[in-house]
Amino acid sequence: MSDVVRRFIRYAEIASMSDPDNERQTPSTPSQFDVAEVVANDLVEVGAEDVRVDEHAYVTAHWPASPGAEDLPCLGLLAHIDTAWQAEDNPVHPQIVRYEGGDLVMGEVDGRVVKTSPKDNPTLQGYVGEDIICTDGTSLLGGDDKAGVAEIIEMLARLAADPSLPHPRIAVAFVPDEEIGHGADLLDLDAWGATWGYTVDGGYIGECSYETFNAAEAKITALGAAVHPGYAKGLMVNAAEAIMKVNALLPAKERPEYTEGREGYYFMERMEGSVEKASAVCIIRDHDRASFEKRKQTLKSAVDTVNAELGCECLTLAMRDQYYNMREGVEPHRHLIENACAAFEACGIEPYSEPVRGGTDGGHLTFRGLPCPNLSAGSMNPHGPKEYVAVRDLETMVDVLVDLVGRYAHAQGALAGESESAQAA
Ligand SMILES: [Zn+2]
Repeated sequence: MSDVVRRFIRYAEIASMSDPDNERQTPSTPSQFDVAEVVANDLVEVGAEDVRVDEHAYVTAHWPASPGAEDLPCLGLLAHIDTAWQAEDNPVHPQIVRYEGGDLVMGEVDGRVVKTSPKDNPTLQGYVGEDIICTDGTSLLGGDDKAGVAEIIEMLARLAADPSLPHPRIAVAFVPDEEIGHGADLLDLDAWGATWGYTVDGGYIGECSYETFNAAEAKITALGAAVHPGYAKGLMVNAAEAIMKVNALLPAKERPEYTEGREGYYFMERMEGSVEKASAVCIIRDHDRASFEKRKQTLKSAVDTVNAELGCECLTLAMRDQYYNMREGVEPHRHLIENACAAFEACGIEPYSEPVRGGTDGGHLTFRGLPCPNLSAGSMNPHGPKEYVAVRDLETMVDVLVDLVGRYAHAQGALAGESESAQAA
């Protein structure tokens, strides 16, 4: 078993789901401290400097530049230590299976075989005769994003073992609660010191993504007037109905279940209520900023229309922007995309980029001034018991990261494509 595989399995065995019902606290679950401690010990062991676990389970560390690269910008690498909460994750039993083609079988749970197939995952066909890591089917694996954590630390171990490898100063961060949208908010960017960086949190190997949704969340509340239904004519205002009317005014085909690629949507994530009181949470997603703003306006108009129709201010709307497409923050620093693609190619992997239908920690960081595309970590079928990570991808991602940091050890590499305005800034 290679070192990165051993490392990954050790992290995966520590169940550390985040908890959306406890999002006010960071970390949202104490188990994230358990991974944080193990990860921090490993960083010390491989020789990282200023290794720190703070009171919010953020693990940070630095790695000094190789000789001659001391004056170049510090490169950041991030991954997250929590796993998704949508699937049971406690305890996690990772196993390595030899994939012989056909179904990839995790195990049997309550008389039902947990498996995935090349039909669901066409890329699986490229791994016949190879080892794949999955669980026994009773939990998710947590390759999202412990694969990213293991790959980054293994890359540092590689730098430690071979001092001839060039690299700039490197800042690493392993952060909690990514799955509940926390977005590395508490990372002190000044202390961390990176000029730009990458999250290693993507899916199939070769990914370098730098487009995310623009995102807004709207809370709609309705206050009705309850009257005996037999004598309600002209008097009753049904709060739950009011919310349903709003939903009916939104374009029916622009919902998550009907959209893909660059198509945005409205998503009534939660609705509850009665005659007297009702509430709903509607999220809006769109890659295009102008169309995102238009969607927000459409929702607002729908609320106004229903209020006008009811002849009262039954509905109130509280809308806030959650994050924006990081593309505009990354594109002035084309080298981030070009160097990542070149690193993949140097390792025999075809790079690709796709608009992420969600947000990433990197998106938040980009808007805080640290441009940060997302690289593949290799987790497939994340957020469920059918998750798996191919051993070859784990190992190749370490090679890719070693190659990538090497490209930032030369001024040409670090600043190639850096636009004049960005350099001046
Ligand atoms: Zn992730």
